[in-house]
Amino acid sequence: MAILDGKLISNIIKNEIAEEVQLIKLKNGKTPCLAAILVGNDGASETYVASKVKSCEEVGFQSELIRMPSDTTEAELLFEITKLNNDPKIDGFIVQLPLPKHINEQNIIQSISIEKDVDGFHPTNMGKLVQGLPSFIPATPFGIIQLLERYKIETEGKNCVVLGRSNIVGTPMAILMSRKGYPGNCTVTICHSKSKNLETHLLQADIIIAALGIPEFLKGNMVKAGAVVIDVGITRVKDEQSKKGFVLKGDVKFDEVAPKCSFISPVPGGVGLMTVTSLLMNTLKAAKNK
Ligand code: NAP
Repeated sequence: MAILDGKLISNIIKNEIAEEVQLIKLKNGKTPCLAAILVGNDGASETYVASKVKSCEEVGFQSELIRMPSDTTEAELLFEITKLNNDPKIDGFIVQLPLPKHINEQNIIQSISIEKDVDGFHPTNMGKLVQGLPSFIPATPFGIIQLLERYKIETEGKNCVVLGRSNIVGTPMAILMSRKGYPGNCTVTICHSKSKNLETHLLQADIIIAALGIPEFLKGNMVKAGAVVIDVGITRVKDEQSKKGFVLKGDVKFDEVAPKCSFISPVPGGVGLMTVTSLLMNTLKAAKNK
């Protein structure tokens, strides 16, 4: 069994980005700039945004964090987005999800300029992804694609099961794994909460991508020998022993599943780090597209 090391690969990619940033600066004196809007003070969202800002610094990007209180209205948030859409110094921006319940997430996603939509959630970017056109690939699936590519994991003709069908992970992941190209050319099965005979599907899978948000859902008896397992899940599980009061758990019961795998991504240290790095890749692309 070998580990798909998100830390190692994201460091390699970040070094590549940093080199490109230096070249861009030398060529036209510009520094790529990523902005993030954070509404409210959800603990997990704070952590994600802080890590995105830190990663920007590491590669030499500029970054801007716009904090808005949890009682921000949809109109106020839309106003802030319009400002970022029109600000020439911002190459790309994200609105950290989830948003407070009184704000319609779809309205927000659709208000982001498609040229600055580095999260790749806008329906136009998703539509382009479906048609195999150049677009911003949502950061988590993009990160997984990078991991598969950098570890030269064979995908052609393989059975791939994607657990979960969300717009941000499961659905784009399934599209990417079934596209013509590498990584891709898989026979993909998408499973969700209404799927029957889950184990039958899973036991035929050469590649499993688990994105359900149910800690340690995937057990050893659900995985065939030699499978490649990608764990996307991140759930904070209460833990009195830990300083923070919680530990992070993936969707895979690592101790049981890892010995059966050819490759497996751990949590933490796997997909999460790749997600942030892919956001940087998308921002660099947005800056270069200008
Ligand atoms: P989500 O929107 O809640 O979607 C979960 C999906 O899992 C849904 O499609 C749901 O099916 C399916 N599901 C739930 N229970 C199931 C079951 N028993 N059997 C099969 N499928 C089941 O979650 P998400 O946003 O995709 O995120 C999934 C996980 O990835 C979460 O832990 C999240 O924190 C993590 N995540 C990590 C990163 C990262 O950077 N590592 C990024 C994004 C998300 P239905 O559609 O039928 O409800």
